[in-house]
Amino acid sequence: MKRIGVFTSGGDAPGMNAAIRAVVRQAYALGLEVIGIRRGYAGMILGEMVPLGVRDVANILQRGGTVLLTARSQEFLTEEGRAKAAEKLKAAGIEGLVAIGGDGTFRGAMRLLEEHKVPVVGVPGTIDNDLYGTDYTIGFDTAVNTALEAIDRIRDTAASHERVFFIEVMGRSSGFIALDVGLAGGAEVIAVPEEPVDPKTIAEGLMESLRRGKSSSIVVVAEGAYPGGAAGLLAAIQEHVRVEARVTVLGHIQRGGSPTAKDRILASRLGAAAVEALAGRTRYLLLLPGPEARAWLEAAGKGLVRPEELSVWRRGETPFTAKGWDEALARLEEVAHAGG
Ligand code: ATP
Repeated sequence: MKRIGVFTSGGDAPGMNAAIRAVVRQAYALGLEVIGIRRGYAGMILGEMVPLGVRDVANILQRGGTVLLTARSQEFLTEEGRAKAAEKLKAAGIEGLVAIGGDGTFRGAMRLLEEHKVPVVGVPGTIDNDLYGTDYTIGFDTAVNTALEAIDRIRDTAASHERVFFIEVMGRSSGFIALDVGLAGGAEVIAVPEEPVDPKTIAEGLMESLRRGKSSSIVVVAEGAYPGGAAGLLAAIQEHVRVEARVTVLGHIQRGGSPTAKDRILASRLGAAAVEALAGRTRYLLLLPGPEARAWLEAAGKGLVRPEELSVWRRGETPFTAKGWDEALARLEEVAHAGG
């Protein structure tokens, strides 16, 4: 592999720039050229590409957003759109891709891989933290800290005016931000999309707090936790009790801003690791339980990445080292037959 492409797609997340920088710098260290693809899959279809040298990514580590820009593409959802994108990649001599984005971006990358055999490594970049297989996604920590700062300020007002505040944070279908922000900010109630939200129970809880002498409360609501978000939930609660409350929707301020140290480090590590994987330099450490490890190895072994040496470890089993996928698969088979 001589030339790889990198792009950001879906919602922007603080730390995406740090990941782009790491990809370019690691590629340089391994003797690979990098092409930056602008505007995600939309730009890929149009062939919007720029060569990225080591100097081009100087001073972007600390910047929020993404210098490669991002977009959502309807056309890429079609087979024709993906064929056009694959054509542009081929014309530019791009042999592998690093996709930085969320679950939609990864789904698109899988299609590109299945239909056009373009090797892709995904770097999880989304403030939502809703990607399977990784504890944290790039941007989540920054979003949580930004929302927390806002909540701390609102709490000052809430305490002074003896009011209840309903604060809506991002999260249409996942409550990770709400949960972390609520815990760190000492919220009385946290409403997330993953759990049923009952306005009557919340109303009783708030009244109980008042009876116990609590004069102000914070209720953190993920935007998808209740129809109409925080405002919708407050209206539903007011059908049960008259509660003096204000609603604040934090909105897009949670997306931007300079990434935290944690996000910069995660982005730098994952960006570098993605290039190593594409270049076949990875020593994989599998932490998957049971048959998933085998399925994963088989999928990855279809000629995509071919590390020379792998460390394989399944929970509860002794780790072993294998030379290449075939040996690793054979060894896993042995363990399965031995009743492992
Ligand atoms: P975030 O979660 O932060 O919004 P995301 O990566 O999930 O990020 P999406 O808008 O869902 O954002 O996906 C980005 C792009 O990926 C879409 O605009 C579309 O072009 C492509 N994509 C999403 N799902 C698919 C799919 N099933 N098949 C092909 N392409 C897809």
